[in-house]
Amino acid sequence: ATPTAVMVATGVGANHGVLVKGGDALERAQNVKYVIFDKTGTLTQGKATVTTAKVFSGMDLGDFLTLVASAEASSEHPLAKAILDYAFHFHFFGKLPSAEDSIKKRKEEILSQWLLEVADFSALPGKGIRCWITGKKILVGNRALMTENGVNIPEDAEGFLVGMEMNAKTGILVAYDGDFIGLIGITDPLKWEAAVVIQGLKKMSVHPVMVTGDNWRTAQAVAKEVGIDDVRAEVMPAGKADVIRALQKDGSVVAMVGDGVNDSPALAAADVGMAIGAGTDIAIEAADYVLVRNNLEDVITAIDLSRKTFSRIR
Ligand code: ADP
Ligand code: MG
Repeated sequence: ATPTAVMVATGVGANHGVLVKGGDALERAQNVKYVIFDKTGTLTQGKATVTTAKVFSGMDLGDFLTLVASAEASSEHPLAKAILDYAFHFHFFGKLPSAEDSIKKRKEEILSQWLLEVADFSALPGKGIRCWITGKKILVGNRALMTENGVNIPEDAEGFLVGMEMNAKTGILVAYDGDFIGLIGITDPLKWEAAVVIQGLKKMSVHPVMVTGDNWRTAQAVAKEVGIDDVRAEVMPAGKADVIRALQKDGSVVAMVGDGVNDSPALAAADVGMAIGAGTDIAIEAADYVLVRNNLEDVITAIDLSRKTFSRIR
């Protein structure tokens, strides 16, 4: 392609909200063999919502939610925000003024009075959080976190958890003072275009893969819904780049689509890194493409644009 053709293609891309950083990136996209999708916030809307909270001990549900929300208050994870929202609505449903503004203000006011004091908070990437409340250790996170800390999950809770996971929900487990006390179910709806785009890629002979830190059962349920057959689950944040490097070994051109801070190393490792819309600054920095509309159809637009620009000269 001539420099003019590259310039024209870059402009066409920009008009569609597909920003390319340079002619090399534009050229590489035509040969993409694998597209790796992050699950949360990329295939899904990134709008996590709690749908279930269940206590598996004698504890009162309100007390359970207060405990978990207090622990999660220092976390920046989207799951933490969902849990805080749910706990707040549980406690204050029907007791709030009606105007949105004052709800927000009251919310902050009430939250600060109502949350318990937390000591020694730490975020455990890919697993959950740990802190101390009233001198006792609280763990909130996935199975790996519980197993690591020798927390036993009773059979009835395990059964309930598996049921949620098979329905594409993420189960968050809670242990207090060494004992499992309950769990929270979270759902994050798929983007409407996800399944269409996966089908489109397959038609273009591109192989879609999903990578996530979430558990296997939830990951597979989501993958099945969108039509992805190749799933890599329970991948620690640093492991996403390793998944890409493994696929590159035979010379395959690999694209990665992601949004989060956790995805930056993978976006950088990919031959074609695509940061999606509402992505974090660091993800946008690491990427070759920015898909500003936050719409997965633009993954296809980007590959198409490259193929059309460079096909004639081969
Ligand atoms: P993803 O790849 O889907 O963005 P992460 O690597 O951020 O996932 O997290 C993987 C898993 O770790 C989550 O599905 C959740 O079970 C657990 N986790 C991480 N952070 C938290 C948190 N603040 N509270 C509860 N669980 C968490
Ligand atoms: Mg993510």
